[in-house]
Amino acid sequence: MKIANNTVVSIHYTLNNADGEQLDSSEGGDPLNYLHGAGNIVAGLENALTDKSAGDSLQVVVSPEEGYGEYNDGLVQSVDRDLFQGVDKIEVGARFEAQSEQGPISVVVTDVKEDAIVVDGNHPLAGEALHFDVTVADVREASAEEIDHGHVH
Ligand code: ZN
Repeated sequence: MKIANNTVVSIHYTLNNADGEQLDSSEGGDPLNYLHGAGNIVAGLENALTDKSAGDSLQVVVSPEEGYGEYNDGLVQSVDRDLFQGVDKIEVGARFEAQSEQGPISVVVTDVKEDAIVVDGNHPLAGEALHFDVTVADVREASAEEIDHGHVH
């Protein structure tokens, strides 16, 4: 059966960045199951998998626009240290939930100054070209409930 909207797809994948460094992989673990056409995975990979079948292998390079977005300097902000009252330890690399105009976003601390904390709200993979090696392990019809919920059960 071919991958189309409202099919549940199982894939094994390895994700490298443009420098060939491995960022993520399902190797040695369970395959990733997702509902095709529901935006469960990045758009560029989802589009490339359309019409593929179990056993197919493909290499896909996903641009930032179809991946996790371009790096946005506007999402890097220096905030008052007072806003972190009650937080024991503020160090570079720490993640926090922050409120933005688009709702809550995850930010990472990139610099700690005497009276200010610099946080970055970009996705960790923003601006990266995503190099996927994918093998389709299984394709099946989604249940009505899965389609209704927009995810795999
Ligand atoms: Zn559900």
